[in-house]
Amino acid sequence: MGNPPLSIPEPPQSIGSILEKQSFNFLWLLVGVAPCQICWLCRATKGANNDMDLCFTNASETAPFWGTYCDSMPWLEAPPYSELDGFEISQVVPDLLHVLNLGVGRDVCGSILKTLVKECHVFAGDTIDARLHAATVSLHQFARAHALPLRMKKLSRKKLNWGSNRYAELSTGSGYDVSVVARWLEHILATHTSIYPDFATLLWSLNKSMSILYDGPWFLSDEDRQRVRTLGSIFMRVFLKLANEALRKNEFYWRCRPKLHMLHHIFRCHRSVNPAKFSTWMDEDWLKKVSKPLRLVSAVTSQARILQRWLLALPLHLQKSMNIAG
Ligand SMILES: [Zn+2]
Repeated sequence: MGNPPLSIPEPPQSIGSILEKQSFNFLWLLVGVAPCQICWLCRATKGANNDMDLCFTNASETAPFWGTYCDSMPWLEAPPYSELDGFEISQVVPDLLHVLNLGVGRDVCGSILKTLVKECHVFAGDTIDARLHAATVSLHQFARAHALPLRMKKLSRKKLNWGSNRYAELSTGSGYDVSVVARWLEHILATHTSIYPDFATLLWSLNKSMSILYDGPWFLSDEDRQRVRTLGSIFMRVFLKLANEALRKNEFYWRCRPKLHMLHHIFRCHRSVNPAKFSTWMDEDWLKKVSKPLRLVSAVTSQARILQRWLLALPLHLQKSMNIAG
């Protein structure tokens, strides 16, 4: 535990007691102390108070915040797990499901889809609703042809958060839908690269880097780490270029949220261990499964009841898996 604590003021007593209960939190989120640091791995900020030195929207490989990687701890009250032998803050990995599929991926798909539907180069139809319908048909055909499960029934203005003062975003409850939409968009834009070169580059770099990570082993080769890093660098540069252009035109596209910075950390592949192995798809599935029985029992005994029910069902599931294996 050689990292020095950050030089920030002592919290008031009430905040201190909150911090003791939180295993992982930032003081500045609780009391709003500037600069607003957004990352537990480095000192990147939102660029608050015009202090842009460490602003996370710097896509350069030599951005100042990279020089602060893991040089401080993100808490005043160290949680018990940080006292474990061998613990390092770099082992706390951003979760791809929430960072990309339920975060930046929604902004990417929403911004591209809204642009394509507003313009008439890709989807046929005289009105926005007609083009949304054509997009829905195309998406479902792609999902069927590639045997990809899709929960979303149709694309609509509401799904794209349509409005003059709202950021374009593909709002769907399913993280997997976002990855299907990203692959479909790359597929349909392959024949429109002359009109939308940035979109095609962005989707290609994103999908390619994710396939390297998700198809890769627990420990990535140096070559794959370098490929993900290069593809990620391309993605970040194009994303921020599009965000800058939208800002100049006062348009609500390409939202730059702090999750973009956490995705940048994943692209950097600081460690050889594959960051995709830390994504929480299975955890979310499990939470969905237990949420129904949890609602049926007392909150006081819920943990014991869930374990009892799990034990009750275990023999049947074991038998089923043995039958499948046999
Ligand atoms: Zn960071």
